[in-house]
Amino acid sequence: MREKCLCEKCGSEMIPIKKDSTVGMVCPNCGHGFVTSYIDPIYEDFQEYKIYLTEGNTVTKDNYFLIQSLTNMSMLEIKHLFETTPYLLFKGLAPEVKELKEKLDECSINYSIVPEFKY
Ligand SMILES: [Zn+2]
Repeated sequence: MREKCLCEKCGSEMIPIKKDSTVGMVCPNCGHGFVTSYIDPIYEDFQEYKIYLTEGNTVTKDNYFLIQSLTNMSMLEIKHLFETTPYLLFKGLAPEVKELKEKLDECSINYSIVPEFKY
């Protein structure tokens, strides 16, 4: 819950404003306002991204556990999956994609993200 915020100039209750990548509070009475924080643009990106596994992956202990946790596939199925690229592994919003991207990088898995992922 957001705390009530009173205008330091006139004492009216301020209302939240949201514009571009900034958030803040503004007084509806006198217009006094301030910016409180910066939102990472990744949280304002509502584009759906798709992560595809691409060619050249081989099953290792590390990537097996990662892919297994995402797909519930067996070792054999994952081996097959690595051979039938591109395989749509995941689709979702930028923050989730970023998290998964970091895990894929750790496991040195080849993948591509559509559309271009800039985070
Ligand atoms: Zn005011």
